[in-house]
Amino acid sequence: MRAVRTVLGDLAPDRLGVCDAHDHLFLRIPALAGQELDDPGAAEGELAAFGALGGAAVAQWTPFGIGRRAADLPALSRATGVRLVAATGLHQAAHYPPELLERLHKDGLADFFVAELTRGMLDGDDPDGPRGTARAGMIKVAGMFHGLDGHALRVLAAAAEAHHATGAPIGVHHEMGTAAVDVLGVLHGEWGVPADSILLGHLNRFPDPGVHRELAASGAFLAFDGPSRAHHATDWRTVECLVALAAAGHTGQLLLGGDTTTAGARASTGGGPGMPYLLRTLRPRLERELGAEAAEAVFVTNPARALSARWRDAS
Ligand SMILES: [Zn+2]
Repeated sequence: MRAVRTVLGDLAPDRLGVCDAHDHLFLRIPALAGQELDDPGAAEGELAAFGALGGAAVAQWTPFGIGRRAADLPALSRATGVRLVAATGLHQAAHYPPELLERLHKDGLADFFVAELTRGMLDGDDPDGPRGTARAGMIKVAGMFHGLDGHALRVLAAAAEAHHATGAPIGVHHEMGTAAVDVLGVLHGEWGVPADSILLGHLNRFPDPGVHRELAASGAFLAFDGPSRAHHATDWRTVECLVALAAAGHTGQLLLGGDTTTAGARASTGGGPGMPYLLRTLRPRLERELGAEAAEAVFVTNPARALSARWRDAS
């Protein structure tokens, strides 16, 4: 039996509904100082605005240690009725104190991910802090700009091991959309993670149609995300990328997300496009370009497949 692992429990995939497949309610990284997403009230407003347009689920791709606020997620889901999938995993090394990474590697990174997927996530960013009962439903990893450093390779290996132990899907941050072929080669080629358990993110930031077709040929999911100021240079090519991939027979592998990474990108409190943009602007656009059936695939049936797993609850 496949299930989507939400912060309120496991869910039959066909009950997931309209899904923002890559977004953030909380995020705190030094590179975005002053624009942190760390206000539960603002997160609730944004989720409610998404829900009011028919949004039913959001996958938060914020991994451990960068202000994920796992302890706040169940209450937010209950308050808004929007289902939330949370992530374990790690971002690039630059986002963490070196001693924290050393500690996690020493204790066993794959075991750390497995515990968050099967027992419950740590409430905060302290590895010695309290652990809640809400479980992560995916593993987030990150590549580097046009390559993979030692940290990225170690995290990919641990994510693959945690996938084999649990079945969890793996979502990938690609720096400016690059190095996706390398990541796929490691996760799928080297470590044997099935391609349909891999969600390749930020591909709209590197809109090379040949690369997109090569990635799609593997069977992996291709996640397009935005809009925000950070992605604006390539956001306008998202729809043409989706149209080209659909024409090549890959409609069933396409995902869309808002990837709200800054307070100013929020619709409810920041005056930005935020999560509502997906349903207010992008969905009608996709319906016009690709038809209602393809839009339904991108917003409902594809995320239900991409975010669900045959969970093996390693004890
Ligand atoms: Zn993201």
